[in-house]
Amino acid sequence: LAAAAFLLLAAQGEPKHFDPAVHEATRAFAYDEFLIVPVRVHLLRCEGDDALDCRLQEADVRRIFQKVNRIWNKAGIAPAIESIVTEPAVVPADFHGATAALDEFKATRPERSRAERMIHVYYVHRLPVNGVYQGRDAIFVKDTAALRQVRGGVDEPIPRVTSHELGHAMGGLSHREDSINLMASGTTGWSINDAEIEKVRGWAARQDWVLSPAAAFDAKFYEILTLLPGESALKERARRELK
Ligand SMILES: [Zn+2]
Repeated sequence: LAAAAFLLLAAQGEPKHFDPAVHEATRAFAYDEFLIVPVRVHLLRCEGDDALDCRLQEADVRRIFQKVNRIWNKAGIAPAIESIVTEPAVVPADFHGATAALDEFKATRPERSRAERMIHVYYVHRLPVNGVYQGRDAIFVKDTAALRQVRGGVDEPIPRVTSHELGHAMGGLSHREDSINLMASGTTGWSINDAEIEKVRGWAARQDWVLSPAAAFDAKFYEILTLLPGESALKERARRELK
């Protein structure tokens, strides 16, 4: 009994991350209701400019996107890595490096790796803010992002910042400044309410490049199909494809 009590106390001493108790969503989504959003991840590299020289590796991106999915799965949305491109940043002649304004980063995106019918997330080392949605399909996030920790929040800044910017990109969610919210500025909050979920799912339903699980299988997005919550014959088939 004493040992059990000690373990209980030890468990209570740990901050509880991703606490569902602080989340506002009132419904869960069945496997087949998920909407899969292709995302191309760009790891920008730059020898000449530290701000543009992201330190993340592919393994980090996979960890980050598992957490991004933990957040967005609450809305029946699954951001899926279409590919990870590690590439040199474009450095415009008038780029101001460590003191560059937010607007200047947009021109650092390589032309060759852009594509339609997906969202693009660019990771860099420094930005004047943690992350920014630059309009249409370009999100920038810095690998040095830092957040104020709130009750039940996300355990790592980069997945939370990425998810917050995806909220702006997917149907244009606005800020909602309550500390536990995903759309609050600068905190580890991850709560998405029913109105936000409806707005994002409405946007996703209008994009013909956003995929149902069946369409994602046909497009060979097997990994995300194995990671979605719930059970389905499709999930089993995706597991077999990955073996
Ligand atoms: Zn924002």
